[in-house]
Amino acid sequence: MKYYDKLIFELSKEGRTGFSLPDTEWADTTDRIPAGLRRELPPDLPQVSEPDVVRHYVNLSNMNFGVDTGFYPLGSCTMKYNPKINEEMASYPGFGGLHPLQPDDTVQGALSIYGELSDWLCSLTGMAAFTLNPFAGAHGELTGLMIMRSYHISRGDLKRTKVIVPDSAHGTNPASAAVCGLQVVQVKSTPDGVIDIGDLKPLLDDTVAGIMMTNPNTLGLFETGIKEIETSVHAAGGLLYYDGANMNALLGKVRPGDMGFDIMHLNLHKTFSTPHGGGGPGAGPVGVAERLSRLLPSPVVRKSEKTGKYETAGNPTGAGRISGFMGNFGVLMKACAYILSLGNRNIRKVGPYSVLAANYVKESLKDLYKLPVSTLCKHEFVFDGLKEANAGDPEREVTTLDIAKRLLDYGFHAPTIYFPLLFHQSIMIEPTETESKETLDAFVAAMRTIAEEAVSDPGLLRSAPHNTPVRRPDETLAATHPKLKI
Ligand SMILES: *Cc1c(COP(=O)(O)O)cnc(C)c1O
Repeated sequence: MKYYDKLIFELSKEGRTGFSLPDTEWADTTDRIPAGLRRELPPDLPQVSEPDVVRHYVNLSNMNFGVDTGFYPLGSCTMKYNPKINEEMASYPGFGGLHPLQPDDTVQGALSIYGELSDWLCSLTGMAAFTLNPFAGAHGELTGLMIMRSYHISRGDLKRTKVIVPDSAHGTNPASAAVCGLQVVQVKSTPDGVIDIGDLKPLLDDTVAGIMMTNPNTLGLFETGIKEIETSVHAAGGLLYYDGANMNALLGKVRPGDMGFDIMHLNLHKTFSTPHGGGGPGAGPVGVAERLSRLLPSPVVRKSEKTGKYETAGNPTGAGRISGFMGNFGVLMKACAYILSLGNRNIRKVGPYSVLAANYVKESLKDLYKLPVSTLCKHEFVFDGLKEANAGDPEREVTTLDIAKRLLDYGFHAPTIYFPLLFHQSIMIEPTETESKETLDAFVAAMRTIAEEAVSDPGLLRSAPHNTPVRRPDETLAATHPKLKI
């Protein structure tokens, strides 16, 4: 029997403790607290021994799935392995113990990391300047769009309120544009999964603020028409925004700045190997072309030419302020440690290895899973469910949800499912560059077994998972009547 089969949360036993204090006159300090400030006593706290507490939490942690416990091919999320040295660097007391209001003179080390990391990101992306202040990818998008809007307003070009977003875009793109007060216009994809330039051109008038693009796009495909798109959008007076949340495939190979993008964000918590999930913490630095650098948000960090020291300052010409201080410094530290530990030579391998891993998995499974776009992919690709799915048979039909649930039984985290919305049964797989061939082969074997089970015993998939701590929830009931405690 596994721990979670008898998981109980009520472990409290009257009088049991996990500590003992010496019996001195100081032991009971209750009467030293003024009566008006005391809570009613005794507080209703669990009374448990130290082993009970330790086992409870360690067992709970074992019920969790993380990139440190297994393969996590969640498309559009880049769940690569996060080297532990990153954590060690970020938690050095000299970094972890800083206060954001310390005078610049006392935090020169931290500010130089901010400055140097910005410089490295510039050279990796081809942008002229970066702000590291935004806390997440979506926060970076909002920052970038504020810069885009400020750029047009500063030129007196007030009509430009339209942002073009492809139909394959990550949901945060249209959401950020709407939050920024801009109007979202969708551009279609071709059957090959790239932007339909014929659909784009009529949208390019003098109300266009810009276009938001992901390249490789959400299908894992490189936008082959990028040069023509860049020329057309710029000719119409718009700016090009690059969603660089998943920069894995390009790292060290191609730079958005060289493709003509004016503004971009990166997700340090994806591409630059800092842990994510569960709501953060993250970092979504924003890079801009030279002519937009005066619009970066406050505060800015710069190196004084006179003294050679780093200093922080407000930016009176900037697009505003999007965070209290200078970003999630711990996350910046981890990205910095990651870049330094790979170095100039090895960081160039991230792109090719992640592309190789994705194409290897795609080619090993495409005889059993529907592959709507079969061209060479970059770091990820999308299947549209199983070829043999008993479609239309209400008793035997196997959906993408069933495949995802069954993968959990085989010890793999499920890929991203039902996204992108272009296909009904999307399964989006991103293996990343940090997995061995053996791990990829084991995943391929599980996916192939599932395809066989779909034919021989579809009920097994439709009721999966069978050996996880939590079985299949009733999705409707879970959403309408969530039960938040055991
Ligand atoms: C993850 C992701 C985002 C959003 O990043 P958050 O840090 O979750 O806000 C935006 N665009 C793409 C393409 C992404 O994959």
